[in-house]
Amino acid sequence: MSVIKVPVLIVGGGGCGLTSSIFLSDLGVDNLLVERHAGTSVLPRAHYLNQRTMEVLRQHRVADSIYAVGAPIENFGKVRWLTSLAGEGSLEACTIFEMDAFGGGALRERYEKDSPCLSSNYPLLRLEPLLRRHAEERAPGRILYHHELVEWSEGPDGISATVKNRDTDETFTVEAAYMIAADGGKTVGPAVGVEMEGPRGLLDMVATHFSADLSEWWDESCLITWFLNPMGAGSWGSGAMVPMGPTWGKGSEEWVLYFAFRPDDPERFDEAAIVPRMRELLNLPDLDPTVHRVSHWVLEAVLADRYRAGRVFLAGDAAHRHPPTTGLGLNTAIQDAHNLAWKLAAVLNGTASDSLLDSYEAERRPVGMRNVDWALFTFLNHMVIDAGIGLLPGAPPEAQAAALEAYFAHNPMGETRRARAAEVIATQRTEFQAHDLEIGFSYSAGALVADGTEAPPRDPMGSEYHPTTRPGHRLPHAWLEHDGQRLSTHDLTGATSRFAVLTGPAGETWCTAATQAAEKLGVSIVAARVGAGGDHADLTGDWATLCQIGDDGVVLVRPDNHVAFRSPGAVEDAGAALTAAMEAVLRP
Ligand SMILES: Cc1cc2nc3c(=O)[nH]c(=O)nc-3n(C[C@H](O)[C@H](O)[C@H](O)COP(=O)(O)OP(=O)(O)OC[C@H]3O[C@@H](n4cnc5c(N)ncnc54)[C@H](O)[C@@H]3O)c2cc1C
Repeated sequence: MSVIKVPVLIVGGGGCGLTSSIFLSDLGVDNLLVERHAGTSVLPRAHYLNQRTMEVLRQHRVADSIYAVGAPIENFGKVRWLTSLAGEGSLEACTIFEMDAFGGGALRERYEKDSPCLSSNYPLLRLEPLLRRHAEERAPGRILYHHELVEWSEGPDGISATVKNRDTDETFTVEAAYMIAADGGKTVGPAVGVEMEGPRGLLDMVATHFSADLSEWWDESCLITWFLNPMGAGSWGSGAMVPMGPTWGKGSEEWVLYFAFRPDDPERFDEAAIVPRMRELLNLPDLDPTVHRVSHWVLEAVLADRYRAGRVFLAGDAAHRHPPTTGLGLNTAIQDAHNLAWKLAAVLNGTASDSLLDSYEAERRPVGMRNVDWALFTFLNHMVIDAGIGLLPGAPPEAQAAALEAYFAHNPMGETRRARAAEVIATQRTEFQAHDLEIGFSYSAGALVADGTEAPPRDPMGSEYHPTTRPGHRLPHAWLEHDGQRLSTHDLTGATSRFAVLTGPAGETWCTAATQAAEKLGVSIVAARVGAGGDHADLTGDWATLCQIGDDGVVLVRPDNHVAFRSPGAVEDAGAALTAAMEAVLRP
């Protein structure tokens, strides 16, 4: 049997595995990815890419190729609840409620201020081929589809894995120092005894992917539409619809309509009922859609009890699986990969000890836990919306129709009902305006030097983001200028394993310290003195208010743009202080 030796074996060619490969390749780490399917996803699946994910993809020069083809924010910055898509009756095509979402509409200014990039929307069906291209360009011949991990063993020096080429049925051995299980939880976690904790079998999301011309009725600024009508069974039972492009706006050619069923409901497999149901729901009796595929996704809200088992790291759906609301599945998966990649690179190139890899679980598992909980809450809260509007799932159609008539009534009671519902629906900002949840998460323990300060208050509803340079937090974004080029504070680290030191105009000693620490530890650290008299201009003046340090203070940033260490001002021996901080990060 032939043997391939490679530092990192990646199992799974979904969003997590493909981005793991891209990031590792950029960091100079040879890697091999095996995916048991013959090609990328045939299901539309996840589509929303939040700002943090786009920052990560921007760092690795992937974001622009997504912006070029994904929905612009003008075409996905809103969600709405309608009675039906079409029709002229008193309860047809009525807008129950609309909400700005994902950084669109009135949210845009705030989202743009806090990040160098906006969110995007591009279904996995199209995103995976794009990521595959990027991964293959960086690692030619190393991204192997139709190849399955069949077994493996772990020894003191690494993993020995057997991979089967499913085209030929031949097997070969892969010897790797580490393995990333980005396998959706299908293979590796269960085999190494990782327990997935949390409720399972919640609902079966039946997704119908179809093509139809809906341009006459679609609102081009909307991403998700829920249909609540007298015949329906509430938000999830009635149906939610999402455009899939490839043209965005009214002209979207493809769509996905979700109906949720109880997992024991035999009707969920009645595919013949889907198109009639769709016609009724949208109130388009002549609709003649081309159905591409009907898929089932049984929802759960589970978190792995461990993210590391020896030389194996669980990432993405292998580590956490949850409902689609707030779009956290793919985003958290890509951010897991980003957290893990620079650490693997540092250990493999000898600048960090293996203990740095323990910080992956310490940092990412609490984020996974919060996101699983968040996704479950925002999913369930749709049922509260039904109640807020006056609908009772399972009630007879006449009762539902009466509730909707009362909701739209032009009288004081109607006004009260709409105002009441508006307050209830506003709680769904936890899903659609989760700005702080998306970019404000932080690590309280891991590869960082805590500075003893209190974390800023966190909006319990996940919207209001408070930027801070406190260690563990994501570096606040501000626009700088250097050599006539505009750059974000996030751009200093680049796509390599580089750390960054941001100091003020009087921070020369920290710049010298960065050179000393870099030489001593064999790492790369770029230094920027920001502000008047420094070598980087504070283009908008934002950094001065965000940095939380004096002109002679310092912020040390990790390659993943999380703050590792800061000092509010000068210290006696900056070289020793910065070297000690770097050592604490690299050998926690
Ligand atoms: C059916 C389904 C529908 C979904 N729909 C939505 C949605 O509508 N909206 C939303 O926001 N999210 C949705 N999600 C969730 C979202 O798509 C995921 O959170 C995200 O894509 C996770 O990516 P991943 O790379 O971690 O896992 P995956 O995309 O599951 O990738 C894991 C890969 O590992 C491969 N693999 C497993 N075992 C082996 C092995 N032994 N050898 C080689 N390869 C292996 C699998 O074939 C798979 O391709 C859906 C998930 C599923 C499963």
